[in-house]
Amino acid sequence: MYQSTKNGGENKRRTVNGCFGDGINKSILAADEAVYSDARLGIDMGGTNIKFAVVCGKTPVYKTKIKSPKTIEDIIDVITEKIFKFKKEYNIKFVGVGVPGEVRNGLISTDNLPFDKFPFEKVLSERAGMIVTVDNDANCAALGELAFGSTKDCENIILVTLGTGIGGGIILNRRVCHSNNNMGELGHIIIQAEGGRKCICGQSGCWERYCSATALIKEAKRTASKNKESVLYALMCKNGDMTGEVFFEAIDKGCTVAERVYRRYIKYLARGIESLANIFGPDVIVLAGGITEQGDKILKPLKAELKKDVRIEISSLQSDAGALGAAMM
Ligand SMILES: [Zn+2]
Repeated sequence: MYQSTKNGGENKRRTVNGCFGDGINKSILAADEAVYSDARLGIDMGGTNIKFAVVCGKTPVYKTKIKSPKTIEDIIDVITEKIFKFKKEYNIKFVGVGVPGEVRNGLISTDNLPFDKFPFEKVLSERAGMIVTVDNDANCAALGELAFGSTKDCENIILVTLGTGIGGGIILNRRVCHSNNNMGELGHIIIQAEGGRKCICGQSGCWERYCSATALIKEAKRTASKNKESVLYALMCKNGDMTGEVFFEAIDKGCTVAERVYRRYIKYLARGIESLANIFGPDVIVLAGGITEQGDKILKPLKAELKKDVRIEISSLQSDAGALGAAMM
């Protein structure tokens, strides 16, 4: 999506070919300070990488990422350093950060980073010398889809990320839905009321226990092991373990065992999507996560299975959505 080029100026500002694919914005290439008068910095803090995106007006102009440090102190140090750098280069007027976990009253608690009710917003604002706004990363990604995705014509968007679990964000009337409690725990809507699979949240039959990428791989592995004559089993043995790639290779090869697993997966996926469509009446439901790179292989059977007329799209931004959306809070 991004194609970077450097201008000839001393500051080597980079301009990005934008999310809109309509060529390099010459006005930004001029590196005129006025162009950056409304520049915003978005930061997407993940367990593996911290991503940064600079947006001027409605145009993403620069992105970069660094490896996530391990300690709270180091994380705050590298983020503060980048904020100062971008503030100087782009005259940044706003900083937003998406974090992987719970955000309540500026306190953050994360699973794959070492924060527990940490006053992140306050500490970062003091260190950076400007107000820094923090929200959950899935909410930020949903905002990214609203501002820069192929769905930017929509006002009501639900983002569903199929990964280790199922995450997501809800946007109604162009605003992220917040509440006193965690909101948008889409993975924990119950789609199997009786004898459902146990979930880490304490319930049974949660959507993510059937439709996360992890759930699909686990089910593929279990079924392959029970059908040792199948193509799926042979491919799993050849690869050493079950992966998404192995599973979809078996689908491509017409393995009936894999197809059976996939039909069930798509069925559960459709039921969850129908529930979301019924509750929120969104203009579009955007699917993201590694598994959606399969494109039509997931979209076609899903659309055929859906009993409701709801617009479904695969994220055009994928892992860039978080940082871009954080800039637009
Ligand atoms: Zn659950």
